[in-house]
Amino acid sequence: MSGTLRIHVDPDKCQGHARCKSLAPELFELDALGNAHEIGDGTVPAGLEDKAWLAQANCPEFAIAIKEE
Ligand code: SF4
Repeated sequence: MSGTLRIHVDPDKCQGHARCKSLAPELFELDALGNAHEIGDGTVPAGLEDKAWLAQANCPEFAIAIKEE
């Protein structure tokens, strides 16, 4: 059985390009300044794992961490 993924945006690294949000709107939200934050506690719902990895791969600031739990 594969583990659940949990994402986390490092607010010190995020520069607000919003690529994560456009690739995976179910997983990320933007604050008033346009910086991204994981939705809820960052747990990735089943079926959205590929979007989580895609968002991480496309973040130009390497601000997205993914943990397998
Ligand atoms: S793609 Fe990366 S730098 Fe851009 S908003 Fe998302 S986490 Fe921040």
